Amino acid sequence: MADGVVARLDRAKAAVAAAARRAGRNPGEVAVVAVTKTVPPEVVREAYEAGHRSFGESYVQEALGKIDRLPPDARWHMIGHLQSNKAKRAVELFASVESLDRESLARALEAAARARGALLEVLLQVHVGDEASKHGATFEGAEALARRAAEWPSLRLRGLMAIPPYREDPEAARADFRALRELRDHLHRLRLPGVEMAELSMGMSHDFEVAVEEGATRVRIGTAIFGERAP
Ligand SMILES: *Cc1c(COP(=O)(O)O)cnc(C)c1O
Repeated sequence: MADGVVARLDRAKAAVAAAARRAGRNPGEVAVVAVTKTVPPEVVREAYEAGHRSFGESYVQEALGKIDRLPPDARWHMIGHLQSNKAKRAVELFASVESLDRESLARALEAAARARGALLEVLLQVHVGDEASKHGATFEGAEALARRAAEWPSLRLRGLMAIPPYREDPEAARADFRALRELRDHLHRLRLPGVEMAELSMGMSHDFEVAVEEGATRVRIGTAIFGERAP
């Protein structure tokens, strides 16, 4: 690809800002998490050197090899399905676990964070759309988890994350993004102890503009920055 990573990162950020303005939002409210799965560390470093600090990985093992090779002020988000037996590793590596989807994982992360004396940001991953294969709590399950947040004082529950099913037309995801925002607002209104509900992590390369229009505070962009992943 003729265009470098830095140019594409800039373009993605400009598109995020434009979408925010279209929706009457402050572009500063929306952060870009650069999703680096399958991307080699030297390419991730190009984005880092250009000033970018937020990165997302889906697998603990793969993330390890990159986190080690980048300066410690890079901020890594776990965005993939996390097994409870990897909780300790995850707490060591990640600033945020966006894929908290069940109580057993919350308990494992709480124990690992407490043992480390850490406060770990988590987002609840919620299942939206109709694709049965995706992970995530149901809306009711997410509320039940949020209601228990005070039992996990080493976790800082700050919002929701979702991965709507891929659809050719990004407009088709709008209703899912809106539903996630409404759930976030609902949980926010409950004023649950230990719960902040500020963040909405939604939108990927093909639909992030719609997600931003619908209230995303965090978009997770891989392909549009780093190019197509090898299958
Ligand atoms: C891979 C991945 C992304 C980025 O997807 P792109 O379509 O490449 O932007 C975002 N979120 C999650 C959870 C992912 O696994």
